[in-house]
Amino acid sequence: MDFVVSARKYRPNTFDTVVGQNSITSTLRNAIKNEHLAQAFLFCGSRGVGKTSTARILAKTINCSNKSEKIEACEKCDSCLSFNSGSSLNVYELDAASNNGVDEIRNLIDQVRIAPQLGEYKVYIIDEVHMLSQSAFNAFLKTLEEPPKHAIFILATTEKHKIIPTILSRCQIFDFARIKVKDIADHLALIADREKISAEPEALHIIAQKADGALRDALSIFDQIVTYSEDNITYENVISNLNILDYDYYFSIVESTLKEDIPSGLIILNEIIEKGFDPHNFIVGLANHYRNLLVCKDQRTAELLEVSESIKKKYIAQSQELNPNNLVRALGVLSKTDVEYKISKNQRLLVEMAIMQLCSIKQELEKKKSLTDIVEIIPFENEEIKDFITKENTTNNTPEKEHQNISRKKDNIPTDKKEDKNSKVKILSIKEMLQKNEEVNEEKKLLEENIPKNEYTLEELKIAWEKFAFKMKKQRKETIYNALIKRAPKKKSENEYILEVDNQIQIDYINPLFEELTSFIRSELNNYLITFKMEISQNQKIDIQFQTGKEKFMSLAKKNPNLHKLKERLNLEIEY
Ligand SMILES: [Zn+2]
Repeated sequence: MDFVVSARKYRPNTFDTVVGQNSITSTLRNAIKNEHLAQAFLFCGSRGVGKTSTARILAKTINCSNKSEKIEACEKCDSCLSFNSGSSLNVYELDAASNNGVDEIRNLIDQVRIAPQLGEYKVYIIDEVHMLSQSAFNAFLKTLEEPPKHAIFILATTEKHKIIPTILSRCQIFDFARIKVKDIADHLALIADREKISAEPEALHIIAQKADGALRDALSIFDQIVTYSEDNITYENVISNLNILDYDYYFSIVESTLKEDIPSGLIILNEIIEKGFDPHNFIVGLANHYRNLLVCKDQRTAELLEVSESIKKKYIAQSQELNPNNLVRALGVLSKTDVEYKISKNQRLLVEMAIMQLCSIKQELEKKKSLTDIVEIIPFENEEIKDFITKENTTNNTPEKEHQNISRKKDNIPTDKKEDKNSKVKILSIKEMLQKNEEVNEEKKLLEENIPKNEYTLEELKIAWEKFAFKMKKQRKETIYNALIKRAPKKKSENEYILEVDNQIQIDYINPLFEELTSFIRSELNNYLITFKMEISQNQKIDIQFQTGKEKFMSLAKKNPNLHKLKERLNLEIEY
């Protein structure tokens, strides 16, 4: 099959066919219509977003002798024909990346003086204008200040910040946006249709995503896939050709974390690595997956999801099983792994630990259950999506769904607000939270009225404090004695004191005796409102360097008790 490179064949040649830059093309059309066209433009934006194409279309349109009502070139007049065949003398292109010297600019300036033979305007496109040398810039500036009436300059750049203010102030500036994945995918679908190539929407979305906002890149990837898969572009052959990890892997990893199933998570990871995928890319991809899940928790942000409709439904269904706290925590774990990846000596273990941590987030959060979501979630009203979610939830209704039931059981706080049946996430308004707080405070007040609370001086508190410290010394608890005697407690508010310590190790040492310390001082002073809190002193706060593997393991296991289980289950030994 004789396949013309689609990037060239489908390069936009009218304002209407420029992809994803509607506001710019309509502004330009209006300017032409009202004859308010500026003489110098600066087109900014990353590569492949349509800067040069738009410049060429502008040049063709303003020279067309028979523009349509919609301000499009007629494609039939002499000027249009010469533009389309590439022989027009009214457009002059200079690539400043390779021609950045004074000579080239002088040559251009000489050209500018000559009026056009055919049509009204001569258009000068200078691509990558930030690459011009300083002297070339200076030579050009005067022409830009006082251009002849027939000359229009279009300067294009990928690096706007490198353009000097004297140029910026003389140009009308257009910022070309990165083209949306959906716009690119739609454009590819159009091409596929015209070329009679069958293409799965998911496949085109993957190509569009890979192109990262550049239509030109999308078209060349499209060509490459067409050659590879002939006339049938499928999701499968796109991901294998582009070496992209299948969405399904991310969905099943999250599934494992929901079941708190560490072994299955590790097995999936192993499969991914064996397929030759870079674990670091996997972490980045998984973070993006969680981001997508977070985004589709809310109808308002679900629009930010740049995937095909069928995948979008999958995301929405999975996001219903996770609460926002869980998602935010997961993103935290992954971003930390991402940062640590490069410096880690055992990168695979690092990624495995991330998965283990993801598997225990639910447990970890249940421990801190004092937190209730105050994020207001707008449930999905789209019938189709709602149906899909209920279907998904009934088809794989396993015992793992328990966590949803648990979270619903917590919903027993009286509220006059009509509960939304579709919302699976607890909504507790700020007002309700405050009410609840007030109740607690009331109870506390009652209690406080009946307990001994003699007055005391700071000096007396200090004496009681030292008494306790010496009691510790007598019991040969030197470490505690040293920590207590080193600093007197600091008053934070009425009856509230802070004990500053050097590090987490001291906190761990003192903690078991903290209650004893508090009640000792309370009874010494006969004031039972006194409370203490430990804090690591700010000027001592340095990261503890782990000396041994055991220390490291214990510290990790403290954060994630599942590590103990894993260690036992796999019969591992730690190298101490
Ligand atoms: Zn024409």
